[in-house]
Amino acid sequence: MAEQNSLHFIVTQTLRSQEEQAAYYARGRLPLNEVNKLYKLAGLGILSELDNKKIVTKAKTVWDSFHAYGRAFDIAIINSEGKIDWDEAADWNSDGVSDWIQVGKLGESIGLEWGGNFSSMPDLPHFQLREGYTISDLKKGRLA
Ligand SMILES: [Zn+2]
Repeated sequence: MAEQNSLHFIVTQTLRSQEEQAAYYARGRLPLNEVNKLYKLAGLGILSELDNKKIVTKAKTVWDSFHAYGRAFDIAIINSEGKIDWDEAADWNSDGVSDWIQVGKLGESIGLEWGGNFSSMPDLPHFQLREGYTISDLKKGRLA
């Protein structure tokens, strides 16, 4: 379906570690040098001052995220030069609709919940397979 619409994207993350979640949670909440220490610890790339201006997650621990349970993935839109494009209005298939919106609808059409519809903090790259489960259900059922 994505091919028919000429939408190009890559999966950037599936399962997430607690180290990664701690780094993401710190982003926008702690000073840049502290955030970058956590990013380095998690094996993630270094952020700029601008990158650290925005809070990117409400999940304090990885267990507060569908990513911990293998039920979520994040994507990135790929532009005509083959590079990641975070522009929310990007329309690389030139059909007058944001590619992010199209990819979100595509995910929903196959039963995924799209982060672009999160009311308090929209998360365009995020998709999750809820199947009726809440984070609380998943926490109760987790092993280890
Ligand atoms: Zn995500």
